[in-house]
Amino acid sequence: MLTHASVDFGGAGSEATFFSGKRPGRRETDEELQVAKLYFSYASMGAGKSAYLLQTNFNYTERGMTSLLLTAALDDRYGAGKITSRIGMEADAKTFAPTDDLLETFILPALREGVSAVLVDEAQFLQPEQVWQLAEAVDRFDVPVMCFGLRTSFTGDLFPGSAALLAAADQMREIKTICCCGKKATYVLRKDATGQPTFSGAQVQIGGNDSYLPVCRKHWMEAWIAAGRPRIPGTA
Ligand SMILES: [Zn+2]
Repeated sequence: MLTHASVDFGGAGSEATFFSGKRPGRRETDEELQVAKLYFSYASMGAGKSAYLLQTNFNYTERGMTSLLLTAALDDRYGAGKITSRIGMEADAKTFAPTDDLLETFILPALREGVSAVLVDEAQFLQPEQVWQLAEAVDRFDVPVMCFGLRTSFTGDLFPGSAALLAAADQMREIKTICCCGKKATYVLRKDATGQPTFSGAQVQIGGNDSYLPVCRKHWMEAWIAAGRPRIPGTA
């Protein structure tokens, strides 16, 4: 499966904290819920970003507001159009494909129905032009857009959608999880069916037997070197 949520990391440190040190379950600030900005919450796998999205959605609901939920069409772990967290929350979502115009297809119709915000899961799979469509929704239609995604792939590279969001977002925050050594996990290792780290294969692998482990840079590098990869990633 392609992301963290189906994987049990066996207590490898999936307690998530915002950069501010606040804990899950906190209320979003009024500014986050009401001010039209492009927000990007990024994480490694296993940090519980879907749980944060669902909590945010709940906070809107609690205030009598509704939000448009979007997720990548290729994430069909739980059936198309569901955002699910490992701790048991879930919500229906609309799914976007790489070719969809997010503004025309999803956001403008939803605004006509009165939604107060747009929440995007698996935002690493956005195309850069889709990030601009989200920015247009913020700037022209005055709606908060909150994206939740992974920063780096298992090969240590930025996802294109995350790179575009890191450039375009008005406000960013990090959802943290930790490596087995206790340091912040900013990378992820893909482990094959035998439990060995692997650095080959598609960036998105659907339906495989691989699992993912959030790790710090040092431990990612150690596995990278042990696999015979060049000392400087990206120079192969
Ligand atoms: Zn480590």
